[in-house]
Amino acid sequence: MAYIGFIGVGNMGGPMARNLLKAGHRVKAFDLSADLVQRVVDAGGEKAGNAQDAVRDVEIVITMLPAGKHVASVYTGEKGILAAAKPGTLFIDSSTIDVKTAREVIQAAEAKGMMMLDAPVSGGVAGAENAALTFMVGGREEAFFKAKPILEAMGKKIVHAGGAGNGQVAKICNNMILGISMIAISEAFVMAEKLGLSAQSMFDIVSNSSGSCWALINHCPVPGPVPTSAANRDYKPGFAAELMLKDLKLSQDAARSAKIQTPLGAEATALFSEYVQSGDGQSDYSGIIRMIRKMAD
Ligand code: NAD
Repeated sequence: MAYIGFIGVGNMGGPMARNLLKAGHRVKAFDLSADLVQRVVDAGGEKAGNAQDAVRDVEIVITMLPAGKHVASVYTGEKGILAAAKPGTLFIDSSTIDVKTAREVIQAAEAKGMMMLDAPVSGGVAGAENAALTFMVGGREEAFFKAKPILEAMGKKIVHAGGAGNGQVAKICNNMILGISMIAISEAFVMAEKLGLSAQSMFDIVSNSSGSCWALINHCPVPGPVPTSAANRDYKPGFAAELMLKDLKLSQDAARSAKIQTPLGAEATALFSEYVQSGDGQSDYSGIIRMIRKMAD
C-alpha cells in the first residue's frame, strides 16, 4: 500500500481521495478549504498544513486543481511542491488543464529528478464517487506502470495516451466532441418538436439510427427518454455548463497552438459562452437546449 499526498480535495478530488483510503492506501490531504480536508480526515486520512507538507515523506502525489494557473503555482511557484518532495517522487496531475502548462510542469518535475504524469479524467462526480473514472494518461511508461495500480483504486479504465501532455490532448479533443454533439442533439430535438415529432419517438428512432451518440444516450437534453439525464431534474448538474465552456476554451487554445481551424469547436465555444453569460453556468451543459429553443423562435 502506498503513502499518497493529495492536493485539491473538492468535488472530484474529495471522493477520489476517499476511494484511495477505501483501497487501503495512506492519504495526506491539503486544500485551501479546511472543511474539505476535514472530510478526508473523517474518512481515515491525515491533514497536511500546507501543500509542501502534503508532499513530504510520501511516495506519490496526486493533484486535482481547477485550472493550469493553479497547477503551475502549486508545483513551481513560491513554496511549490517540487521543491519540497524527495527525488523519485511520482506526481500525477488529474486536473483538466492546457497542454502547454501540463508539458512545462512535467519538464520541471523531471529536471528535479521526479517522475510526473498528466492524468485528466472523465466520468464526472458520479464517476469519482463510484471509483469508475476513465484516466487518460500522458508521460513516461515507467511512471505510467507505477501509477496504474493507484489509479485503479479511483477508476475503471486507465489508458496510456503517449508522452507528456497527451492525456490533456485526449481530454480536450473528447470534450470538444461532447460540446459539439450536445448542440447538434439540441438543434435536432428542437426541430423535431417544432415539426410535431414527440421527444420519445425522436429518441427511440435516433438512438437506433446513424445520428446516435454517447451524449444522446446518456445525457438526452429533454425530460423523459433517459430517466437519469439532468433534463429530468431541471438541469441540475451533472456536468456544469461552465466546466464545459472551460474545456471548449482549452480546445480552442490547443487548436491555435497547433495552428489549425476547428470551425464547429469554435462555434460550440461561442454558443456555450453565450449560455454561461446568460447566468446558466451552474446548470448542466445539456440545459443549452433551452437557449437553442429560444434562438429557434
Ligand atoms: P473543485 O473546485 O470542486 O475542486 C478544486 C479544489 O482545489 C478546491 O477545493 C480548491 O479549494 C482547491 N484548490 C485551489 N487552489 C488550491 C491550492 N493552491 N492549493 C490547494 N488547493 C487548492 O473542482 P472539481 O470539480 O473537483 O474539478 C477539479 C478538476 O477536475 C478541474 O480541472 C475540472 O475541470 C476537472 N474535472 C471536473 C469534473 C466535474 O464533473 N466536476 C469532471 C472531469 C474533470
